[in-house]
Amino acid sequence: MKKDTIRELVVLSGKGGTGKTSITASFAVLAEHAVLADCDVDAADLHLLLTPHVEQRHDFFSGREAIIDPLECTGCGLCLDVCRFDALRTNGTDYWVDPVGCEGCGVCVRFCAAKAIDFPERQCGEWMQSTTRCGPMVHAHLGVAAENSGKLVATVREQALKLAVDRQFPLIISDGPPGIGCPVIASLSGVSLALVITEPSLSGLHDLQRVLALARHFSVPTVVCVNKWNINPRLAERIEAAALSAGAAITGRIRYDRAVTQAQLQRKAVVEMDAAVADDIRLVWQQISQML
Ligand code: SF4
Ligand code: SF4
Repeated sequence: MKKDTIRELVVLSGKGGTGKTSITASFAVLAEHAVLADCDVDAADLHLLLTPHVEQRHDFFSGREAIIDPLECTGCGLCLDVCRFDALRTNGTDYWVDPVGCEGCGVCVRFCAAKAIDFPERQCGEWMQSTTRCGPMVHAHLGVAAENSGKLVATVREQALKLAVDRQFPLIISDGPPGIGCPVIASLSGVSLALVITEPSLSGLHDLQRVLALARHFSVPTVVCVNKWNINPRLAERIEAAALSAGAAITGRIRYDRAVTQAQLQRKAVVEMDAAVADDIRLVWQQISQML
């Protein structure tokens, strides 16, 4: 299968807690021959529902960090003066770098006359290739206080595409990060279709408008689905009207149902439960798969 024939759906939300991952897991069950990609690398949780069996693990490196070699350090203290990020520590005799504070700018490395500061690549997390009951999956996690989640998202997408090409899968389904920051941009650019999951609240409406503006900026075709619509039907209508006027299509509604929580507790996708909400999700998937 050629790269440019593979379709990619990303499921987004303006903020966390809208049910995005539960819906993505259900799509994973309903889709035939799809590679799954968990692009929510800051708080990955698709694996909780799809219980992947990890086949490969790879370290993820991004940027660099300063490390002082105490055997080479002469204790001149110059690095402490030049670090703009206050990442150098001393007890008056020894000097060391606080790895959380170090931004990897390399200034101390340049100024250290004793060449006592190493500057290796920083390991920021790892990405995994796994098998699940719904097909192959690429997922990742970022280390504590590690940055550059956008680059890790790009790595997950790149590996998912490679897997789809190798295994002749025509579709990639990505669980995108919430919000509108760098990892969202990394998960959105160049996809075939974005589905934005929102909920009927004023903050949901506000967050939706920000995501739709972002998708428009990247010229990504976008559809919207209101989850838990029956909690506030009037607001659900208002959100759908706002989505339509912003140029996005509506792909049905999903009701609030306790079966969603039951599914999470049983580590199942919602469509693996016998519940009315599962039918709602099936209808949404029917529409989405036609658009893909
Ligand atoms: S500049 Fe180099 S030699 Fe001076 S205190 Fe820092 S690490 Fe040690
Ligand atoms: S690399 Fe930059 S941020 Fe890190 S300790 Fe050196 S000067 Fe500070």
